[in-house]
Amino acid sequence: DGPLLAVDDLHVEFVTRQGVVKAVNGVSYSLNPGETLAVLGESGSGKSVTAQAIMGILDSPPARIPRGEIRFRGTDLLKLPEESRTRIRGQRVAMIFQDALSALNPVFTVGAQIGEMFRVHRGMSKRDAEKKAVELMDRVRIPGARQRVRDYPHQFSGGMRQRIMIAMSIALDPEVLIADEPTTALDVTVQAQVMELLAELRRESDMGLILITHDLGVVADVADKIAVMYAGRIVENAPVRDIYRAPAHPYTKGLLNSIPRVDRKGRELYAIKGMPPNLLDIPPGCSFHPRCPYRQDDCVTDTPPLYEIGPTRGSACHYWREVLDGSHG
Ligand code: SF4
Ligand code: MG
Repeated sequence: DGPLLAVDDLHVEFVTRQGVVKAVNGVSYSLNPGETLAVLGESGSGKSVTAQAIMGILDSPPARIPRGEIRFRGTDLLKLPEESRTRIRGQRVAMIFQDALSALNPVFTVGAQIGEMFRVHRGMSKRDAEKKAVELMDRVRIPGARQRVRDYPHQFSGGMRQRIMIAMSIALDPEVLIADEPTTALDVTVQAQVMELLAELRRESDMGLILITHDLGVVADVADKIAVMYAGRIVENAPVRDIYRAPAHPYTKGLLNSIPRVDRKGRELYAIKGMPPNLLDIPPGCSFHPRCPYRQDDCVTDTPPLYEIGPTRGSACHYWREVLDGSHG
């Protein structure tokens, strides 16, 4: 029956006055029930745009999707009629957006905002919806939910508001939950708590979870597998343990080196130098070549495919063997 969600050879472009911004250039990944996929990359790598395409918010200009499929339980969401699409997106596939703080409406109580999901989608009365809101606030571990359901967003801390957003996103029991940088505005301890909460919710309900982040550190303990994106492509994908043990792409290696680790003390490391490419003008060959310490002449001319380097592992680097060996860089 195939995976729960499969993105297949997705391309997303934005038509701008300066030219065509190629934000996503052939991305494929898949997700099974109960699985957590971390999608990792710098801003502009295409990780959020891919998620937005899944959520169907890039179906009109200036965005266009010239190629690819997004299959949910085998059905291509890009080909579904509007009405059935909206029934899937937002309900069976839900997303927590990046900016939780501005996503909540300051003039309504949090209970009313969570309850709205049940009133709109389940036709519940105001009273029943409030009861459900309390249940959900309990589920996302907001202390004193019963007393706080009629409080306003500004009466909660950033971490608690993030939990309210999570409560809204899981209200309708989605089968897939996408969290886009759910923790960036929060301090490290709160970030870890939010990640742990997402992992627990995933375990409780067997949903598939996609965590989008630029920080390999925050997903290490919760992800099953990782897809690393660069310039709109996946440059490495692997089970999380394999990536930590030995990255097979110089970019992943750079990201990994930027996380402080006690077992690395005193070792010579390289940090990633330079800037991510301009998506109006992606470098030829391997798009990472201007920043790559492993670069050879052919990197500038030959675009590396995603080489299959193991049963569930790929690297888009011609020299992945050298990177795995750690012979230089
Ligand atoms: Fe570096 Fe070449 Fe590998 Fe690209 S293909 S990551 S430039 S070594
Ligand atoms: Mg983003």
